[in-house]
Amino acid sequence: MNTSALEQTIRVLPESVINQIAAGEVVLRPASVIKELGENAIDADAHTISVWTEQGGKTKIQVTDDGIGMSPVDAELCFERHATSKIETAKDLYRLLTKGFRGEALASIAAVAEVDLYTRRPQDVLGTHVKMAFGEKRLVEPTRCAQGTTIIVQKLFSRIPVRRKSLRSDATEHRHNLQEFLRMAYPHPERHFRFYHNNTLLYDLPPTDLLGRILAIHSEVSTEDVVAVEESLPYFSVQGYLVLPEATPPHNREGFLFINRRYIRHPHLQQAIAQVYKSLLPEETRPLYWIFLEVPPAEVDVNITPSKTEARLLHEMEIRAMLQSIVRRAIGTARLTLPDNWLNQATDTLPPAETKPAPKPTVPSASSVAPVLFPVPPARSPVDHLLLYGRYLILQKAGEVWLVDLVGAQQRILYERYMRAMPISPQGLLFPVHAHITPLQAAHLAEWRPQLERMGLTIELREGKEAILHSIPAGLSPAVGGALLEELLRLSADENAPTDWREKLALHIARQGSLRPSQNLSPEAVETLWQDLTHCAEPEYSPTGRRIRFLLTEEVLERLFQP
Ligand code: ADP
Ligand code: MG
Repeated sequence: MNTSALEQTIRVLPESVINQIAAGEVVLRPASVIKELGENAIDADAHTISVWTEQGGKTKIQVTDDGIGMSPVDAELCFERHATSKIETAKDLYRLLTKGFRGEALASIAAVAEVDLYTRRPQDVLGTHVKMAFGEKRLVEPTRCAQGTTIIVQKLFSRIPVRRKSLRSDATEHRHNLQEFLRMAYPHPERHFRFYHNNTLLYDLPPTDLLGRILAIHSEVSTEDVVAVEESLPYFSVQGYLVLPEATPPHNREGFLFINRRYIRHPHLQQAIAQVYKSLLPEETRPLYWIFLEVPPAEVDVNITPSKTEARLLHEMEIRAMLQSIVRRAIGTARLTLPDNWLNQATDTLPPAETKPAPKPTVPSASSVAPVLFPVPPARSPVDHLLLYGRYLILQKAGEVWLVDLVGAQQRILYERYMRAMPISPQGLLFPVHAHITPLQAAHLAEWRPQLERMGLTIELREGKEAILHSIPAGLSPAVGGALLEELLRLSADENAPTDWREKLALHIARQGSLRPSQNLSPEAVETLWQDLTHCAEPEYSPTGRRIRFLLTEEVLERLFQP
């Protein structure tokens, strides 16, 4: 045993080993290479950025830009660890405007692959070619090349069998590559992006504006399907587009959040946005949006993960609340709104009816009068309506004319009533409904019983084998008892008790309970319905995602009559 006090077991690792370790965090798969090289091209002010991949990027990835290029000295230096032109002091970390700053991407990539760099600045006649292979410099030579930078990465992980083996199929890696590519293309619509796979051009995205970029990438989405959001506050601003619930592609899996033009995964904020869409989308569909947050660089920290795809925000709570209200408002008002002077324009341009010319208003100031499509004396009841096909209501309210789906409106009102914490009185069933249940169902139902009771549902569990429904929410037809119990059994049979069982049940009750629209709705009933709907948290969409009401503006009518 060596007992020398000077015995040294701790060693400082050689650079090449350090780089390989870093590469383990920075370069996870071909897509990480695309991200890092693409971001460098953006930082280098490139106008056009082209990405070529072969076999999902496993054999070759090439990124070419027409940016500022590098001097011969920088071309060698850039492969050194912590070599960066983007920051100088720690203070710079708090005023970051570039994608990169850690100066470890190129060193990491060069540690685990063969890399050829060709680069030339506009002021130089000759460019530089540097060849690196698995952490070693193999070649430096002057070369003729276009202005800008081309980096070719080959044989990724070929010397590291475990990493090579952890790569998925070409198709899967290719999907990741595209994903990463698009996450860069959205926030930089002013630049030209191209993506080739096995020599086929898959994306050609010429410069445009944000909406143009989104529509160029998503052929399934059209202009009418999206609504713009924009809001500026002292400590942050939001800009972007949301796809309306009814136009969201089924099974859509993600919405895109960017902070200071950087794609960021922020589950907390993204969940907050998804919450607004909740009950407007089928369960397996996530909302589709592109939301761009701008915050002062000092108030966001992206230096949490090597890939910089997560962020800490100083004002997260405020931002979260604002985001929710912005998104809610955007969806809620996603219809053509009435311009202020619409009344005057409309009445001016309406040709007088042939038989009965409309009487000229006697009130001198037209702007103080509600616009009237169905003229009525001013002192009438506050709501006027017309029921079409026993289901659709045309009503005018505060100078606006609305088309309302009665069934959707009633479902929404009932749904929110059942979802609210306030207790609903039970209505006893003359013939209680019985059902056999499994021990799992018994356990869930026992747990839910107090909440069920508040919703007006009294359930008895006999020996954990039988469930008996004794009451249903007041106001429902007793005939729905069976259907309600069935739904409860279905929900409670789920092994991982659905956390949103109350919502699902409320939806079910709302569906069962919506009154059949009748031919004669009293003005009072319509007024109550309208008030109830206005007080709903989500008056625009039914719990199943159907549109509840449309504001009938001149533009909407105009569109109807278009050839
Ligand atoms: P970082 O981007 O964090 O600075 P990188 O390892 O990605 O670190 O790049 C190191 C340096 O190499 C950059 O700071 C930049 O000066 C230079 N560089 C990398 N890619 C390019 C490029 N495409 N065009 C011009 N310069 C580049
Ligand atoms: Mg970089």
